[in-house]
Amino acid sequence: MPKKKKRPARGLYILLLIAVLAILAVGIALALRSGSKVPVPVPVATAPPAMTTATTTAVRAETTTATTTAAEAATEAETEKSLPPGMVSGIRLSFYHATMYLGDPSIMPLVLMEPEDAFDKSEHWESSDASIAAVDESGNITAVGEGRCVIRVTALSNPEVYAEVIVTVEPAPEYRTTPAMSTPSRETTTMTVDEMRKDINVIGGISYVQGVMIVNKTYPLPASYNPGGLIPEAAQAFSDLRAAASAEGIYLFSHSDYRSHWSQVSIYGNYCNKYGQEAADRFSARAGYSEHQTGMTVDVNWPGDAFNGTAEANWLEENCAKFGFIIRYPRDKEAYTGYKYESWHIRYVGKEWAAVITASGLSMEEFFDVTSVYPEN
Ligand SMILES: [Zn+2]
Repeated sequence: MPKKKKRPARGLYILLLIAVLAILAVGIALALRSGSKVPVPVPVATAPPAMTTATTTAVRAETTTATTTAAEAATEAETEKSLPPGMVSGIRLSFYHATMYLGDPSIMPLVLMEPEDAFDKSEHWESSDASIAAVDESGNITAVGEGRCVIRVTALSNPEVYAEVIVTVEPAPEYRTTPAMSTPSRETTTMTVDEMRKDINVIGGISYVQGVMIVNKTYPLPASYNPGGLIPEAAQAFSDLRAAASAEGIYLFSHSDYRSHWSQVSIYGNYCNKYGQEAADRFSARAGYSEHQTGMTVDVNWPGDAFNGTAEANWLEENCAKFGFIIRYPRDKEAYTGYKYESWHIRYVGKEWAAVITASGLSMEEFFDVTSVYPEN
């Protein structure tokens, strides 16, 4: 009998145990639920203040330079959101200062929007004073009246990004003399790129860097620029160079020097017909972009690869700087100059510049940090 009593007792204990466990489980669950309802003074992470587009750039600059904290990381993330990929972040111009004479043909700075893969590179142009210089939708700047004003180009996709050209309009001179050669200053090699850019001056549609006329695929000459032949300084220098060569038994002569805009139209056109435009662009300039129009350039003896490596070409390379000339399209510099090596094409820049440019081993484009790329139509 006692055995019989034990069995129901054991069953009861088990039932009780299950009941107790169930009550405990329900209790814990209730306790947790009620606990979460109690307001706890936990500092809630405040969202970064909504940023207006106007402050985006400044905030971005701060966050990238400061040491990163969680809050700054959040700000950074927020900033990224307000600057969509492909948005224009900067604008560079082919020049920032221009002096124009009344009656000059209009000039147009080349515009480079960064990054290169920006989706929308459309521009908006405006003049601070259209009674001094007017600008059209394509960036053609026209002199209207004497004075100074600012022409601004803005990226339509990001109106905070802009670049400006300071335009000075002067009365047309009664006559125009060929600008004298400037002399190189000591700053030449220590200037930063930005400082150099301020040194690009467009006068009457002609581009100068530190007083040196630059003509290449980026910087054309107006069709009206016509010195009528080699400028006197260059002609005298070439004459001296020939005499010195002759004294060493080297016969040099000018195959071709000054060429007008219109003669270049026909020369380049003929090359395009014969070789196709892509090939022609490697060795012949489009009209307006030929250095021969400057009146400071000579093709010596034979303008062709057959001249490379001849005694005459070697003498020219070793000695032309003494007379103020540089080999304008050196070996292996096509990426900078836009032209393959031309041992015969020399450019007069004056003795001082010729010495420093030649000694640098750089092409003219590298030395002055300018591009030589045709505009995209
Ligand atoms: Zn040439």
